[in-house]
Amino acid sequence: MYYPEPISKLIDSFMKLPGIGPKTASRLAFYVLEMKEEDVLEFGKALVNAKRQLSDCSICHHITDRDPCSICDDSHRDQSMICVVQDSKDVIAMEKMKEYTGLYHVLHGAISPMDGVGPEDIRVPDLLKRLHDETVQELILATDPTIEGEATAMYISRLVKPTGIKTTRIAHGLPVGGDLEYADEVTLSKALEGRREL
Ligand SMILES: [Zn+2]
Repeated sequence: MYYPEPISKLIDSFMKLPGIGPKTASRLAFYVLEMKEEDVLEFGKALVNAKRQLSDCSICHHITDRDPCSICDDSHRDQSMICVVQDSKDVIAMEKMKEYTGLYHVLHGAISPMDGVGPEDIRVPDLLKRLHDETVQELILATDPTIEGEATAMYISRLVKPTGIKTTRIAHGLPVGGDLEYADEVTLSKALEGRREL
């Protein structure tokens, strides 16, 4: 099908987003053409700003617009606990629950030998660096209940064991193969409460 170049470029851009096929991309592109110019500009600005103004917290690697992030920077939070999650969306899910008051560590992935992802490729070395003083007493491993998430939790637990820091795994009220970020607050809160020592 023939499209003028600006439109086909827009369609290509939409197709780079997850879950967007050619049909949806073309529908979205034509929708943009119908939008008010100021709304389109606002949309473009939001995309660019989100990318430019956000970076990883140098301590926990949660996405932030200041470094360290507001969680790491909050002295009222329980510094003796670190909850280890796969991505920033999991931190937001945990924060919505409003029960957890400790710190986080965002791995940005999980160990997956099949995809060539090893411990060095996710933020495991940085996590170990945070355990050097005696502040941290518990690591809550809240990686996803998938094969990769379980393997990552086991790996970290074995690595940390000799330090004497307690490692716990969140309970499986969470659906197997599910994603932490999609768990509702009650399920998540139960999973946290029922965590067991590894
Ligand atoms: Zn942080």
